[in-house]
Amino acid sequence: MVTFGTASAAPGEIDTGRLEVGESRDGSPVGLPVAVVNGAADGKTLYMQAASDGDELNGVGVVQQVLPQLDPDELSGTILVCGIVNYHAFQVAEHRNPIDDTKMNRAYPGDAAGTSSERIAAATYDAAVSADLVLDLHQGSTSRMLDECRVRCGTRHRLHEECLEMAKVFGCGYILDQKGPDGQLARAAPDEGVPTIDPELGGCVGWDEQSIQTGVEGVFNVLTHYGFLNGTLNKRPQTRATGFEQYGSPNGGLVDFKVELGDRLSRGQTLFEVTDVFGQPKTEVTADSPGIFWRSRRLPQVATGEYVCSVGTNLDTY
Ligand SMILES: [Zn+2]
Repeated sequence: MVTFGTASAAPGEIDTGRLEVGESRDGSPVGLPVAVVNGAADGKTLYMQAASDGDELNGVGVVQQVLPQLDPDELSGTILVCGIVNYHAFQVAEHRNPIDDTKMNRAYPGDAAGTSSERIAAATYDAAVSADLVLDLHQGSTSRMLDECRVRCGTRHRLHEECLEMAKVFGCGYILDQKGPDGQLARAAPDEGVPTIDPELGGCVGWDEQSIQTGVEGVFNVLTHYGFLNGTLNKRPQTRATGFEQYGSPNGGLVDFKVELGDRLSRGQTLFEVTDVFGQPKTEVTADSPGIFWRSRRLPQVATGEYVCSVGTNLDTY
């Protein structure tokens, strides 16, 4: 029998339930929706979670599409799923947990006696470090972004090769291989010996069907490669960036992008122009390094210093 919260499944069974993490302001229990898929045959354990950031719904779309396709009789091993991690942010369609104004993916490994976000992080971290592999499904929030996989442990980490391997297997097409900030699940779990990646499935308001499909393929690639399922991998060429340059606006106005997501850039190439309200150009911002146009803000209006876009640099391909 494998249990996760109130979900409990014997070999060959699937069950859903709730993982209780305290109470909401009205005193009712807060339960994250969880599932256990217990394969008829033995194998590894995969932990997968979505909506750690409450406005990142593509991962929930992936969970919704993957779970009905899984037949525990054909599965070797166990899959633990938390379908919505940032419960409070999801309820109000925001990025951060409104109870403590915290970004969940800065709260790992969490604290079972801490703030709202720390408690949720601790409860899901227990599941993550009980597994052999972890997928933390994210996206570039509501900005526009490529489909990519993030390796966050850092290139010198003892689990780096395993994490990078999983990112290649997931196979979105792009990999950002750069040590992440403290508190990320994909940084904390490798310290406990569990290879973890953070697939970033595009960026949108609501759902993006193409990014969700890429995520579904990625999950099945991982399940196939690590022996949960028989089948063939859906392979595609991968481009890895180990650098990530962020661009802000040198002044206020309206941004007009001169490149598209996925474009290969040369140094000095124009990324965007800022114009005033009456259409007069104010400045042009160019790429500091060669790279790939990776992420861009959605709304055109910017103040001086406000985030505009990101470029992945130091590229190699597989
Ligand atoms: Zn995120």
